[in-house]
Amino acid sequence: MKKGLLALMALLASSSALALTPWQKIDHPVSGAAQAIGGFSNGCVIGARPLPLNAADYQVMRQDQRRYFGHPDLLAFIQRMTRAAGQQGLGTVLIGDMAMPAGGRFSSGHASHQSGLDVDIWLQLPHQRWSERQLLKPQPIDLVSGDGMRVRDNQWQPQIGSLIKLAAQDDEVARIFVNPAIKQRLCDDAGSDRAWLHKVRPWFGHRAHMHVRLSCPPDSLECKDQDPPPPGDGCGAELASWFEPHQPSSKPGKRVVPPLPPSCQALLDNHFSAE
Ligand SMILES: [Zn+2]
Repeated sequence: MKKGLLALMALLASSSALALTPWQKIDHPVSGAAQAIGGFSNGCVIGARPLPLNAADYQVMRQDQRRYFGHPDLLAFIQRMTRAAGQQGLGTVLIGDMAMPAGGRFSSGHASHQSGLDVDIWLQLPHQRWSERQLLKPQPIDLVSGDGMRVRDNQWQPQIGSLIKLAAQDDEVARIFVNPAIKQRLCDDAGSDRAWLHKVRPWFGHRAHMHVRLSCPPDSLECKDQDPPPPGDGCGAELASWFEPHQPSSKPGKRVVPPLPPSCQALLDNHFSAE
């Protein structure tokens, strides 16, 4: 009986260890000149840095998860963008997941955030700073109605639109993902200044946060950019198709995990052979 229990416990321990990807076992950035490697959904990062946790213009949520690492360009973007948000009096910017110390794949949750160039930024802007406890168990605000057709007017604030616009106008930002209903709201409110809407892309979920993705840094030679978004503000037929009964068919499903870029595989091999 006792032996059986021990065996069961060993089994449970090993299966939970299996659930972690090797990337989740790397607790410090890999030293070297900063390099984002591979694609956003299959890559890693060398020379990542932790986002400073004490800052006047932003707060970092769920610090216990240690997902606040990124390519230095990502850190610089966050600092530049949140400073501008502070200057506009938008409120405190809440920073969610960036990448793990060496990037790479999470066991669950994100498919991307792998190369140190992605950050989730919440779409609420408190005017009082959050307590440590609030930051550890942050409460998202769902900005989208239950049927997914529109933004909830009682939750939406113009400052949220201003924050998304600030991020979209940054030269290093390639794409921003938000819920289709949020994109629709931005389209409706934009007026004649619409060029920035080009980078704001409708996607599943993203009802309480935006996902900001930078372009590959020019000196990251093994970094793979996506094709740029289609021309235009993206407010027309493509966006409308998201509100039809049959949504675009590219809904994320179980995908086969592709082989790692060779430099990321080498990084793992080095790390775990040195242990
Ligand atoms: Zn994200």
